This record gives sequence, structure tokens and C-alpha cells, in this order.
Amino acid sequence: MSAASPNLIQSLRHDEIVNCMRCGFCLTACPTYKLSGHEPKSPRGRIALARAVAEGQLTLADITAPLDQCIGCRACETACPAGVHYGEILEAARATIVKHKEQSAGERFIRQVGLRWIMGTPTGIRLGAFGIWFWQATGLSWLARKTGLVKAVAGQAMAEMEAALPKAPSPIKRYMGGGSGHVFPAKGERRARVGYFTGCIQEMVFWQENRDAIALLQAVGCEVHIVPGQGCCGAVHAHTGEEHTGHEQAKRNIGAFERFEIDYVVNAAGGCGAALKEYRLWLSREPQWAQRAEKFSRSVRDVSEILLALGPVPMGPRPGRVTLQDSCHMRNVQKLVSEPRKLLAQVPGLEFVEIGNADSCCGAGGVYNVVQPETANLIGKDKASRVKATGARSLVVTNPPCQLHMRASLMRAGMDKEGVEVIHIATLLRQSMDAVVRPSDK
Ligand code: SF4
Ligand code: SF4
Repeated sequence: MSAASPNLIQSLRHDEIVNCMRCGFCLTACPTYKLSGHEPKSPRGRIALARAVAEGQLTLADITAPLDQCIGCRACETACPAGVHYGEILEAARATIVKHKEQSAGERFIRQVGLRWIMGTPTGIRLGAFGIWFWQATGLSWLARKTGLVKAVAGQAMAEMEAALPKAPSPIKRYMGGGSGHVFPAKGERRARVGYFTGCIQEMVFWQENRDAIALLQAVGCEVHIVPGQGCCGAVHAHTGEEHTGHEQAKRNIGAFERFEIDYVVNAAGGCGAALKEYRLWLSREPQWAQRAEKFSRSVRDVSEILLALGPVPMGPRPGRVTLQDSCHMRNVQKLVSEPRKLLAQVPGLEFVEIGNADSCCGAGGVYNVVQPETANLIGKDKASRVKATGARSLVVTNPPCQLHMRASLMRAGMDKEGVEVIHIATLLRQSMDAVVRPSDK
């Protein structure tokens, strides 16, 4: 076979690929390798496959399936002694595959409507949020479940995800709860001015969790701005080979937040936070954006970082045994491991039990559970049994895809009927904050 073109070599990030010294230290960190035992389903194997394409020994079609099967959890990066940026290699390879692949009409439709129109614009996100509320409030969701319509049209995995959706707030509740442009004042003396990054899935599906995080930020002295003009972080686009749309999201968000004088950009979604912190890498090759992206990324904080820096949050009793499923991108990319644990340790009456395999992905992987449901559900099943083994009544999460995927996984295991809940850390901390007995309550 002839060598690949210089453009293909560059777009596959051959310069990064060659840093892999094939030692294999990453293998045992990889959930898909642990499940299969197959080298092409390992980080080392996937890097070798991308290298083979760049060096003209394989075609992009040969490596599409093994790369599609990667969750993108980036646990391999934390195990790599050579500091290989696997995430960059994966995203570059997926973007190259999407660019060169003949797409079916269905795939083109999903990419155009779902990724570019709905998740790719602020208006689309608002429409998506309205659509979910309308679907549930009018009984369409109930009817579709009863008749098996969701399963028939979108498959078993989507039907289970749909069933796991929490009840969406009405448009009036959203409006009253503070939408785009709203400013939430600090409680007491203002100690920081923050721009809150609402996200797409987080704001569409887990709106209340965002408001819980904002209430906590207010309690530690933050004035919180819901910066208008912001959209999706672009992670879902980067993970699905839509590199251009992902970078467009980054530019929109940087432009929107730059218009405000703020100390930090704060979010409560591990995956979004990782993407926002990586804008500096995404746009490093675009001279007119590199500096702006660097400045933006340096200002990004997960809500847990701010609560620890400016707290403590006043907390009342919130009894119960809980365990925590780390968000991979919060743990492996943002390197925030102790932060959620320290916050949970501050809650009076709470018993925290570490889950087995805490450093391993739950299988959600952004949209991995939709495109690779078999593997995602196997991993989710294992996680559910590990939650059960802890005896916890609450599984605490820090990222919306994990929240939805673990809700579906616990439902599949019948654990929701046993009273085991999946709860965002901001909601749990707010419950504790709301339980503070004020002198006027006595
Ligand atoms: S990102 Fe996760 S699933 Fe993919 S190769 Fe790395 S460890 Fe394995
Ligand atoms: S640990 Fe790093 S250098 Fe070693 S095989 Fe994995 S990616 Fe390559």
C-alpha cells in the first residue's frame, strides 16, 4: 500500500501518535480492553491502528469499528508514562473518518438536526428543552411507552434512556427560575462574580441541578450571571467527529463570556468542564483565537472547586449512606478526584462509602450509551452491582450523561424500586444546605 497523503497524516495527528512507545501500561486502565481482552479494543491497539492508516498500511474503513467502540473516557491518559494525549488522537481520527466516510441519509439527518441544529445553537437547546417538556406534559411520552413506539422507532437503548428522563420543568418554571441573562445575587458580601455555563443536556434535562449549583454558589458569596449567547460546550461534537461544529461552539462561548467582567466560568458538568478547559488546545492552531481560548480555559472551574475555595457552604443534616461515581472527564481530564469527596465529607450525618472500581467509567461516555448500547449497558450493569454492594441509598454523580445512564442502569437492575436514587452532587449539597436550622425556625 502507498503512504497516506500529507494531509491525512496531519489530520490523524501522526506527530502525537509517534509518542506512543507501545509499553501497554494503559491496557489495564481501559474498560473496553478489560471487557474484551482484545488489543484493537485497547488504547495501544487503537493508536497502532491510527498509525497504520497514517503510514498507508490500513484504510480509514479498517479502523472505524475499533475507534467507534472507544468510550473516550481517557483513563488511558492517566496511566501513560509517555504522556500521550490519547483524547487528541481519538478526536482527530474520528473527525477524519467522518470527513471521508459515505454517510447514510439517516446519519446525515441525525448529524444535521441533532448535532448541528439542536445541540449546535442556543435556540436549538431552548427548543429541545421545550420539546422534552411538551413530550412529557402532553402524555405523548406515556402513550409512546405504552405502545412501544420509542423502542420500535429508536431501539431498546433509546427507549430505556427515555424512560430514565427526569420530569422536565415547564417553560414558566424555567422562566421564573432565571434564564438567559439573569443575575443571581450573592448571599451576603459578594466575593466573586461568576459566569455560569449551563450546557445543553444539563440545561435541557437536568435544569434543576443547575439551579441547585447556582444556589450553592450564591451561598458562598458568588454573584452568578447566566451569560446570554452561550451554547453547548462542543464536547458531544468533538466526540462524534464533528470537529468543526465543536470548535464553532468554543468560539461562540468564548465570545459570549468575554462580554462580561467575571472572575470565573463555572459549571456543574464534568464533561462540559473538561471541554471548556481544553478550548486552549482545540483552538491552539488558530492564531486569532489561541490567546482568547487560553484566557477563557484558565478561568474555568467546576462548581466543587469554587465551593471548596470560597466555602464552607452552611450545611444541615442529610443522613444516609451514599457512594460516588466519578465523571471520567472530571477525574481523568480535569484531575478533580478529592474535591467531590471533600464536599461530601462536610455533610452532617452522611455516610460515604467508596464504590469498587471508582476510577473506571460507568459506560455513559457522552452519547456512547446510545451508539454502542451493548457495551455501555454491560458496564452500567457492573456499576449497578457495585452500587448495590456498597449498600448506598444514593449514587452521587457529577455529570449529566452519567446521571442519565446510571438512572437507566439502576432501573434495569430494579434498584429504583428498592429506593436507590441517582443524585447530582449539587442537589445533595443543596438538600443539606436547606436543612440548616435557622434561628427563626426554632
Ligand atoms: S478512552 Fe477509555 S475506552 Fe478509549 S482507549 Fe482510553 S481507556 Fe480505553
Ligand atoms: S501507556 Fe502510553 S505509551 Fe504506553 S502503550 Fe499506552 S498510550 Fe502508548
